[in-house]
Amino acid sequence: LLQLEKSAYFSTRKIYPDVPFLMEKDRKRILITGGAGFVGSHLVDRLMKEGHEVTVVDNFFTGRKRNVEHWVGHENFELINHDVVEPLLIEVDQIYHLASPASPPHYMYNPIKTIKTNSIGTLNMLGLAKRVRARLLLASTSEVYGDPEVHPQNEDYWGHVNPIGPRACYDEGKRIAEAMCYAYHKQENVEVRVARIFNTFGPRMHMNDGRVVSNFILQALQNEPITIFGTGTQTRSFQYVSDLVDGLISLMNSNVSSPVNLGNPEEHTIQEFAEIIKATVSNTKSPITHVAATEDDPQRRKPDIRKAKKLLNWEPQVPLSVGINQTIAYFSEELANSHRRKPK
Ligand code: NAD
Ligand code: UDP
Ligand code: UDP
Repeated sequence: LLQLEKSAYFSTRKIYPDVPFLMEKDRKRILITGGAGFVGSHLVDRLMKEGHEVTVVDNFFTGRKRNVEHWVGHENFELINHDVVEPLLIEVDQIYHLASPASPPHYMYNPIKTIKTNSIGTLNMLGLAKRVRARLLLASTSEVYGDPEVHPQNEDYWGHVNPIGPRACYDEGKRIAEAMCYAYHKQENVEVRVARIFNTFGPRMHMNDGRVVSNFILQALQNEPITIFGTGTQTRSFQYVSDLVDGLISLMNSNVSSPVNLGNPEEHTIQEFAEIIKATVSNTKSPITHVAATEDDPQRRKPDIRKAKKLLNWEPQVPLSVGINQTIAYFSEELANSHRRKPK
């Protein structure tokens, strides 16, 4: 019987990715809000593989348990279903504050909730950081620059944001979040780090987040028209998620308390980007079409990353073509799985 129980025990035991043992003095207790989302889950993987204790707080608005499922049950990992708009009591050393919807359709879906998450949610995390003397890194965004009049955008530029437009809930939400970080820093000596993140892509992006990378790849994989919003002369610069994770960890562990841009400065028009996707997805029959432009769409965006290079010794490593191929492979698999899951 004992033999039987033993084999049953081993057959259900989960196999985790390798985690090194860190001495207590090197091991940090790290909170990642929004850790079940796209960027957050990659950050979880990296910090777990470094041997830290990682707690994820997420309300699963756009995140998925599946993104971090491979760690559930591991002694260094905890997953808490919690909304950051409510106060949180926990003891940690570092807070990566990522909780916020991030793609335009998601943040416009419930603008009031987007504002609450970025304002009250950030206030709560700063209150927590103050109480436990933790360092907090805010995932801010290039959207704080709005539709920029300065190109490329550097950290000294104050931005050009429409405070009452459809993007305001997110742009102004992140701007107040940044303002709160520096208020807590000045008044309460909370250690803050602010990453202004530019367009990021990679596996675990949401299938239906409506962003240009996911839309174009899914359209190309399904032989549907690739939809360019407006003329396609607007530009973006895309960074692969592993580069962002490197930058976030470097920034958190640096002594740089002022905002730092993290993005890939290689700039493409959306027309060029559509052509790149069409040429990379093999055998696609998708035509490239133009549909109506969206309101307040920033016309040019490219990060000036001299500050990150100089102070963090960081710059993107992954070429666009490599990242795109990884992402196409991920979406192909997701599509195949979703067809398999559909009832006949
Ligand atoms: P995502 O939607 O995949 O992840 C956000 C996570 O936050 C999700 O898991 C979601 O469920 C969670 N969340 C949302 N509201 C919450 C709340 N009230 N309480 C608890 N959890 C909540 O998006 P992402 O692309 O991984 O973005 C992560 C962060 O990076 C966001 O703060 C976003 O603003 C920022 N950012 C992302 C990009 C990008 O291109 N991906 C660019 C700039 C900034
Ligand atoms: N807060 C939290 N966890 C903590 C400490 C504070 O969620 O461990 C919240 C708290 O509920 C408050 C916010 O953070 O709404 C700001 O806290 P702070 O102490 O700065 O302000 P106060 O409570 O004095 O208004
Ligand atoms: N875009 C597009 N077709 C799509 C989705 C987006 O042409 O199907 C354009 C959009 O108008 C914008 C750019 O691609 O100019 C990037 O959009 P996304 O929503 O990915 O990110 P953000 O606007 O937040 O940078």
